[in-house]
Amino acid sequence: MSNNRENSEKDKEFSSKLDDINTKLDKNYLTIKKTRIVVFVVIGIVAAVAVFGLVDEQNPQRPDVYTDTGHFVVENLKGETITESASWNIYEGEFLHIHILESQYVTESRTNVIRNAIMSEDKFSKDSEKIYSGWFGALKDLSDNRTERHMPYNIHFDVVSKPVGNVIIELTNNRNPDGYSGFTKLIVDEKHNAILNAKITIFEIEKLSKAELETIAKHEVGHAFGLPHSKSKQDLMYRQVSTQYGFISECDKDAMTKLYNVKLSGEFDCH
Ligand SMILES: [Zn+2]
Repeated sequence: MSNNRENSEKDKEFSSKLDDINTKLDKNYLTIKKTRIVVFVVIGIVAAVAVFGLVDEQNPQRPDVYTDTGHFVVENLKGETITESASWNIYEGEFLHIHILESQYVTESRTNVIRNAIMSEDKFSKDSEKIYSGWFGALKDLSDNRTERHMPYNIHFDVVSKPVGNVIIELTNNRNPDGYSGFTKLIVDEKHNAILNAKITIFEIEKLSKAELETIAKHEVGHAFGLPHSKSKQDLMYRQVSTQYGFISECDKDAMTKLYNVKLSGEFDCH
């Protein structure tokens, strides 16, 4: 009996030691589990930073300006919104008057940026393609080819105190309720498929850098010539404007040719 009691006490001691060990093991196991989770989370964060960092590096000129859909509106003479665009129907040698409406926001520097977007004749080579800084250079080159309607490259650009002209550009520091940077409205004689006048508004002007203003002006003036949006993200006339593609491309020239041959309908494609 005494032996048995001794044994039973030893058993108890042993089992309590065993419990101790088990508890310690459990704790260690939990610690290991926690450590693993922490390691996984850290690896995840490091990987995410690395991936996004790389993407960023590969894409250093991320688009920094966006306008959005619906900022180009075509209206007929009844004031109804129509889906088809149109072109200017001017006689040979006739001037298209593109005027900026005077205001406190029309500084000399902004006027020069917009003048450059419209009147520049500079051209460059990019991936064996000829690209243009301004509409005048591009349209003048195009005017060598015969189109059904004359390319509106005879442009008179000026700052005016009253809203007179074929295309009126207004600069404002107001925010567009839908957040657009630029807005162009064409009034069109639907019967003759001809643009009668165009009104461009550029919003939140004081927030725009020179490059942003120049790109937005170029895009909106493209609409003022009648161009709809391009389906290509890498194009000036894409519905979201990026300074990275702030030039007039062969694609835009082709679209102008089709438009002035009265053969362009809907969005155009570059590739
Ligand atoms: Zn647009």
